[in-house]
Amino acid sequence: MIHLPDTLWPPTITSLPVRGREQHFPVRRVYCVGRNYVDHIREMKEASERDPPFFFQKPSDAIVRHGSKLPYPQNTSDFQYEVELVLAVGREGADVQPSDALGFVFGYAVGIDLTRRDLQKACREHGLPWEAGKSFDHSAPCSEIVASEQLGHPDGGELSLDVNGMRRQHGNFNQMIWKVPEIVSKLSSQYRLHPGDLIFTGTPAGVGAVQRGDGLHAAIAGIGELSVFIC
Ligand code: MN
Repeated sequence: MIHLPDTLWPPTITSLPVRGREQHFPVRRVYCVGRNYVDHIREMKEASERDPPFFFQKPSDAIVRHGSKLPYPQNTSDFQYEVELVLAVGREGADVQPSDALGFVFGYAVGIDLTRRDLQKACREHGLPWEAGKSFDHSAPCSEIVASEQLGHPDGGELSLDVNGMRRQHGNFNQMIWKVPEIVSKLSSQYRLHPGDLIFTGTPAGVGAVQRGDGLHAAIAGIGELSVFIC
């Protein structure tokens, strides 16, 4: 009989609060869209505006809740923020048509796609996967979720991100290259969606670096707010 070490326990399921409800939203997977705003593609000078957006993933235990302190990550000297609209998936399905896609969106949230930009650039230059730049511990702060039952399905809203009270990013998610129905449809053509999946939908221009001691405040009008502190 083989005994597992006493320290080996099933990992805790990450979850997010849902506004106005006692039950939390258990997080299954965290998908992200890359290059979904033209002004951000321009500031990155990395790709043609005609290159389509694409998907990558972060681990679900990289989720950090509103009000948290998170450590400045290892192995970087260029730690950057990206404010993003987040979709919370509430239904299972694959090959979803855009016309059916909003029925899969349980709710919306505000997220920050934290990025080790120096490692991301090195990965890109060497033709390597993006994991080192994108998929590290504490890299996915996310606000509480607002249910679409309560909110509806907004097709735009002002996004902003402030560092220590100074406005760094602003945009509107109506500027996304792939809108919400197209994101859900395209992602579901690559992976079967399940309740609990989150989708970070890309960032507008204005990304930049933060340091230990900085406070980040992200907001999307009509959806919510998210504050985190780097320590
Ligand atoms: Mn991003």
